[in-house]
Amino acid sequence: MRRPIIGIAANEIEDAGARLYHLPISYTPCGYIKAVQNAGGLPLVLPVGSPDLAKDYIKQIDKLILAGGQNVSPGLYGEPIQVEEASLSEDRDRFELALIKEAIAQKKPIFAVCRGLQLVNVALGGSLYQNISHFSDMNIAHMQVPVSREIPTHQIHTEDKSILREIYGKKTAVNSFHFQAVKELAEKLKVTAFSEDGIIEGVESNDPSIVFLGVQWHPDFAYDHLEQEMAVFHYVVKKL
Ligand code: MN
Repeated sequence: MRRPIIGIAANEIEDAGARLYHLPISYTPCGYIKAVQNAGGLPLVLPVGSPDLAKDYIKQIDKLILAGGQNVSPGLYGEPIQVEEASLSEDRDRFELALIKEAIAQKKPIFAVCRGLQLVNVALGGSLYQNISHFSDMNIAHMQVPVSREIPTHQIHTEDKSILREIYGKKTAVNSFHFQAVKELAEKLKVTAFSEDGIIEGVESNDPSIVFLGVQWHPDFAYDHLEQEMAVFHYVVKKL
């Protein structure tokens, strides 16, 4: 059987550090690549480029993965920047928004992690909390640094009859590396996992013409340590 081709939208940094001669680089974390390969898919990294290229890129792939990274530019949901030293990339936002639009138009499934989930919500008309640190008086750390990236640190509860229920069961623990989260959910989406302080942690599609799974945690950090985080990549490659 032909291997499903999984496009992974890349990130860019201006300075890759001394070992790479301070070059500007285009990259995606190996977690996405290895996990897709382990699940029997063929990963194809899609470098940030002009939105005009999105149509041709999406034609080449069977499914799209949107990775973590920068904050989504608040202007895209009509707010001024409220976070000090926000890390933003308008080029990446523009390119990935075009990929999302094309993936939906060409009926290709989308799996989105962290920023990816947030961007799909914004693309479909939703908004974000720019900083959730004052969201609740419950003491749940959604930015678990310095705890190691593969270690689950907070609980989530999944909704009945959801993809996440099928993969993760009713209740599990996940890692957490975010200080932003979904505020208003886009109409075409539904929440399928919450943390105990009420943060939206998992989102799926409400609209039969859009195939979408988004998680606020990082399976790419834990696919080689936790069965459930590899299982989500199996699901994405074979079933989504
Ligand atoms: Mn979290």
